[in-house]
Amino acid sequence: MSETYVMQIERTGGPDVLQKQSRDPVAPAPGQALVRQEAIGLNFIDTYHRSGLYPVSLPFVPGSEGAGIVEAVGEGVTHLSVGDRVGYLGSGTYATHYTGPAATMLKLPDGISTQTAAAVLLKGLTAWMLLFEIRRAGPGDAALVWAPVGGVGSLLVPWATAMGVRVIAVTSSADKAAKAKALGATDVVMSDGNVGSEVRNLTGGEGVDVSYDSVGKASAAASLDSLKPRGWWISYGNASGAVEPLSPGVLAQKGSLILTRPSLFAFIGTGDGLKRGSAALFGALKTGAIKADIGQTFALSDVADAHRAIESGQTVGATLILP
Ligand code: NDP
Repeated sequence: MSETYVMQIERTGGPDVLQKQSRDPVAPAPGQALVRQEAIGLNFIDTYHRSGLYPVSLPFVPGSEGAGIVEAVGEGVTHLSVGDRVGYLGSGTYATHYTGPAATMLKLPDGISTQTAAAVLLKGLTAWMLLFEIRRAGPGDAALVWAPVGGVGSLLVPWATAMGVRVIAVTSSADKAAKAKALGATDVVMSDGNVGSEVRNLTGGEGVDVSYDSVGKASAAASLDSLKPRGWWISYGNASGAVEPLSPGVLAQKGSLILTRPSLFAFIGTGDGLKRGSAALFGALKTGAIKADIGQTFALSDVADAHRAIESGQTVGATLILP
């Protein structure tokens, strides 16, 4: 067998704290399955765990999703067999092998490769949560989408567009602006300009119905300034740092706005959320409304470089880590 290892942190800090550690695959306990991973999706949340923004107990193996081939199943697991191709969200996927709860492992439909699954599962379920679960998007909506060509953004923009939403994208460079338009955005504004006033100009002074805001600290004020009365500020990420606390009175002053700070795990961790979300996601891939956009890949042992790339805004689409 080739080398088996994890990339783990013993202290929080910069990308250099990610260190290779030999680790034998863990035999599955009842209800678990052991997977030889073929691809791991990089997610911004991995950097929050590494940096300490989201506290974890140490030592810690980051990584929130993966896909691969089932190598063994524990007692009581009936829906998976050795050799099945699966994708999953889980903790500790920066590893050649992953052992975790079989119940949340999704058998991949024909036509969806393990690389596609690792590129779209967490990010695509996030787009589903934003478009279907928090507030149903549809024709007539105008939406502001931040980081439109990133991992989540490159799925959110075409999916929203396919649902009839007018997407105004906010990004940082001309190249990314061109890509956002190719994904379906009708307009693009640059994040270093006056986003609020440009959005007003583009919407006849009205503002947008919703701001899908993953940037956080740097985008909060602009999101508030871009919404129409009773609009939704869906603040779902912290790429630039955590949003400063604000008084509810600000929401009243800006037009009876609605603020929510969702976490995907509240939408898929209970009931049939994962089943519905994955059905919607695989369906959207099948119809072509969205497609996996793998912008770059890194070897698992070089995952620190992947963190440097995503934290400096250099990635586009999804980033895969390959064991
Ligand atoms: P992205 O691929 O979108 O990468 C981050 C992007 O954010 C950059 O490319 C850049 O895009 C933009 N950005 C703006 N300011 C900064 C900054 N100061 N530093 C770095 N990037 C910046 O990442 P993901 O798709 O993995 O995740 C997007 C966000 O969504 C993250 O904040 C993540 O935590 C969040 N998320 C939240 C979930 C939830 O359940 N709430 C679930 C999944 C993701 P540009 O150049 O276009 O501005």
